Amino acid sequence: MNRHILLAEIMHESNTFNRIPTVRADFDARYYLTGDAVADTLRDTNTEICGVLEAARDYGWKVTHPLAASASPSGPMAGKDWEDVKQIILAPLRAGEKFDAVFLVLHGSMVVQTCDDAEGQLLAAVRALTGPDVPIVATLDMHANVSVQMVENATMMMAYRTYPHVDQYIRGQHMMSLLKRVLNENLRVENHFVRKPMMDAANHGQTGEGPMLGLLEMADRMEAHPDVLCASIQIGFPWSDVADIGPSVLISGIASGHDTCRKCAAELMEAVWETRHTTQLDFATPDDAISEALNGKTGDKPLILADFADNPAGGAYGDSPNLLRAMLEAGLENAAYATISDPVAVALAADAGVGQTVALNLGGHGAPSITPPLAINAQVIRLTDGGFICDGPMWEGVHFSMGKTAVVRVAGIEIVISSVPVAVMDKQVFFSVGIDPASKTTIGLKSRNHFRAAYEPLARQVMLVDAGGIASMKLASLPFQKIPRPIWPLDAV
Ligand SMILES: [Zn+2]
Repeated sequence: MNRHILLAEIMHESNTFNRIPTVRADFDARYYLTGDAVADTLRDTNTEICGVLEAARDYGWKVTHPLAASASPSGPMAGKDWEDVKQIILAPLRAGEKFDAVFLVLHGSMVVQTCDDAEGQLLAAVRALTGPDVPIVATLDMHANVSVQMVENATMMMAYRTYPHVDQYIRGQHMMSLLKRVLNENLRVENHFVRKPMMDAANHGQTGEGPMLGLLEMADRMEAHPDVLCASIQIGFPWSDVADIGPSVLISGIASGHDTCRKCAAELMEAVWETRHTTQLDFATPDDAISEALNGKTGDKPLILADFADNPAGGAYGDSPNLLRAMLEAGLENAAYATISDPVAVALAADAGVGQTVALNLGGHGAPSITPPLAINAQVIRLTDGGFICDGPMWEGVHFSMGKTAVVRVAGIEIVISSVPVAVMDKQVFFSVGIDPASKTTIGLKSRNHFRAAYEPLARQVMLVDAGGIASMKLASLPFQKIPRPIWPLDAV
């Protein structure tokens, strides 16, 4: 049957401790696509949009796609830019166009300067225009802080099931198959949402190993029940000072299976709660990391030090030189670090030119009290435009930009300096600037878990290092004011 759906993406994970507002230009750095450019640009990519569009083509459905926008995690979005986003997404509905369904590709932990629950506000606005009978479905990042407003205004929502996230395309396709069923069978869907007072669980959702795998198997078993359409576990995003923080479970099921679905939701959330002590709260210090680099396991492959407390994928500034400082002080040889976000340093390196030595006060500008700048004299090795195409597994085929980029060398360490914060998920962060990461003895990089998909195969060992920053797991060190209390792990619950 010919259907017509409205499809839009607005994707942002907001760290409310980051003082720099996220603006349109930050979306442009990843993508902010309107109209035909949505389908043209995201064709053949591992994205929800591509999954939805290919399913729609197979079903013979028409898709109107006014916007697909995604930015790297960072501070809350500027209010004016958010109004523009809503205007673009809602315009077809406001113009009176009729749709059989609305499909939104969302993160779930987006905060706007004017609203702590951006996705809830958007879903409510869509619902107000469609009326109660049009299905509104959404895909979410596994790290969504889901609100009641989101649940009440969506027909179904489905979170990623991989971390590192590699199932974006699959989620888009799978949600489309459920939507097709809901439309064809005219199903009445109910959402069952449960949350417990906690900030993190199941080792932050990591699916390489650990308790998340067992939780997802449990969700699979629940989905095998004919009354359950979708069982989602959202691990939440702890670096957000909002009322709707933390892990949650959402079961979207057939209304006649109310009791079954409600019971599943309670059981699954209880199982999530039980995993809280497997969430790692203490991580290696820079001293531990250096000790491992100097005296630990040896081998041909690099030791990878993940500098996660300043991870831009957690919305941090991505400019902390704390771990790099420790690596330099230890005199590590054949090492590399990526990246320190510092456009001023890149400009100074460019002015000096390749081969020249330049004095830099590198990074540390976002949160200088905990991650002060690093004064170095560095030799400029290479200057690039910072662009590359990801070669996967995450975001294979997607164009990524680090902004103007400089590679400098201090003693035995090559340092990639970007103009924007860069979460290191793809090997092209190094290859695109002429560094073969596999040839290094030690690598420092800004990431918590996403790096694993690309980097674990080439590492002799991986170490997560908390060198300070606004994405630290020392949650008690962050100035929370709006989250509900008591909450684990800050309080006894
Ligand atoms: Zn995530």
